[in-house]
Amino acid sequence: MRDKGNPNRISTHPPENRVQDNPPIFLRRNRVRHRSVTKPPPTRVLIEDQAALQKRLRDFLDEEGALDVSVDADSDALDGDYVQKIGNRPTSYEHTWRNVYSARAFNKEANEYQIYCHEKGCGKIIRMDSKFTEIDSRSTPHGEPRKPPVCHKVSWAALEEVMIQQEGSKQKSYTDAFRKYVCWYEPNLQPGHNGCNSAGQKTTAQNISKDERTRAESIITTVTNEFKSTIWETYYIPRR
Ligand SMILES: [Zn+2]
Repeated sequence: MRDKGNPNRISTHPPENRVQDNPPIFLRRNRVRHRSVTKPPPTRVLIEDQAALQKRLRDFLDEEGALDVSVDADSDALDGDYVQKIGNRPTSYEHTWRNVYSARAFNKEANEYQIYCHEKGCGKIIRMDSKFTEIDSRSTPHGEPRKPPVCHKVSWAALEEVMIQQEGSKQKSYTDAFRKYVCWYEPNLQPGHNGCNSAGQKTTAQNISKDERTRAESIITTVTNEFKSTIWETYYIPRR
């Protein structure tokens, strides 16, 4: 069979066979479309000189507190929340300080980190050096420069008191993991100056207000609903 346009060209297939060629072509196109969806985006390569790269790495490590082993977000000694003295407060999570202070910003002109103090009646800026040590701290126990503390909105004393009462009435004990989660429940935490954290009347088991007790109960209920593993120990261990 000769092609009309080109008399020398001979078609290898009759017209009805060409129609049957279509399915394989369709499948091939489908496969290409699928591949283009899963293909990772092209990697952009930034070319910088060695010094600039080193500086970026240093800034990153400094920001993460990884250059200085004394910057330890998990250390209670550095955290210094006063309620530590009231009960057997669980130690904070490794990420607690970092998360509570995640809104900190580096002020280039002042060459310091800054974040607002959320403690009652303050609202002023907390200033920190490159190691997140509070600058001009008004209260540095043991005379040690230290990071601004992780402050509780509802005190640990109130949270613990409510948990102890609940344990007593149920004759069951909360697991340590649950108590820790209650203690370091992030919506209940806020940044504050060392001075602001140590100022004012401290909540103790004896002077918890009705309002604070209600808020403590609310936090414990929320955590109970959120907590993924078991919240009760097998045996009741009275905590006082
Ligand atoms: Zn303050």
